Amino acid sequence: MHEYDIAIIGGGPIGMFAAFYANLRSADVLLLESRSELGGQPVALYPQKTIYDIPGFFGVSGTELTARLAKQLGRFSSDIRLNTKVIALTPDETGVTLSTDRGDFRARSVIVATGAGAFEPRPLTAKHPVELEGTQIIYTPGDLNDFANQNVLVAGGGDSAIDWALALEPIAASVGIIHRREAFRGLESSVTALQNSAVTIHTPYLIQEVRANDNGMAVELRPLHGAAPATLHADKLLVNYGFASDNRQLRDWGLDLTRGQINVASDYKTSLPNVYAIGDAVTYPDKQKLIATGFGEAPAAINAIMRRLHPEIRQTLHSADLNL
Ligand SMILES: Cc1cc2nc3c(=O)[nH]c(=O)nc-3n(C[C@H](O)[C@H](O)[C@H](O)COP(=O)(O)OP(=O)(O)OC[C@H]3O[C@@H](n4cnc5c(N)ncnc54)[C@H](O)[C@@H]3O)c2cc1C
Repeated sequence: MHEYDIAIIGGGPIGMFAAFYANLRSADVLLLESRSELGGQPVALYPQKTIYDIPGFFGVSGTELTARLAKQLGRFSSDIRLNTKVIALTPDETGVTLSTDRGDFRARSVIVATGAGAFEPRPLTAKHPVELEGTQIIYTPGDLNDFANQNVLVAGGGDSAIDWALALEPIAASVGIIHRREAFRGLESSVTALQNSAVTIHTPYLIQEVRANDNGMAVELRPLHGAAPATLHADKLLVNYGFASDNRQLRDWGLDLTRGQINVASDYKTSLPNVYAIGDAVTYPDKQKLIATGFGEAPAAINAIMRRLHPEIRQTLHSADLNL
């Protein structure tokens, strides 16, 4: 089995920057991310919110920050595995074996950058044929062209649901959005764009049941007040109820924790041999769960690892010293 120098678990902003920085130090890096896209919380939870406290940016959205980090990481041809969830860590004297839902990997060191934990889309709780999930009932849309000339319903009232409805409007045959409240929770400019678009707004409605029929699906809506029950036709239902995250995995990995967060030393080493941790997943006195803080932790952990792997290199290099 190939042995990487450093395997980074979690492709949120901190894991992405850590992978870039490790490449800068010429480490052989593996980045493992359980979701289908990199970016972590900024892209999954607040893609349109403006982040004001990233150095060098007057303001940047979660989506734009992720795109910039991906471009920076793309300077190097890193081994990035999406849709790959780490299940277990087995450290030994020379490295760590990582068990994932896509097989085992081996690295001399591991950096845990799992942040708030593995995200799962919040499921549709209304009665529906489970066999339609992935084909007609969709949680994470891939190629927008799959929706061309389809009648699409989007369920949800946040930024992400609004963004998808607006993105699909010029592609799909029709787009409707179903939300349980009259008011949407999105960015004001997005809500205005939605109201001025050809997207049909169905509020305040809950999805009661989804049934398969010869034409696609019948989506039964229950009004929360006022309006009469309704049944809509759809070829595809895009469920966008946000994400739930789960950090219980850290306990299973045998890490020393305080209130569910990983205890680290000043060089970001954990209680397990050859395992380091950075970003929102860790705790130490006065830890701040901020992107800028995690960006600082990444070089500290990687330089500590590189000092251990290559004791002959003593000083920290500056990126300007490297021939990029
Ligand atoms: C609404 C909101 C607003 C915020 N606003 C700001 C702000 O303005 N400024 C700021 O600095 N911070 C802000 N934050 C905090 C910021 O988003 C976090 O500090 C940051 O995302 C932490 O990055 P991370 O990479 O450590 O973790 P995350 O962003 O949580 O990324 C962790 C990644 O690890 C993956 N992962 C988890 N478990 C596994 C596994 N077992 N195998 C493989 N992959 C796994 C996850 O899928 C995820 O992609 C905000 C947070 C929220 C919720």
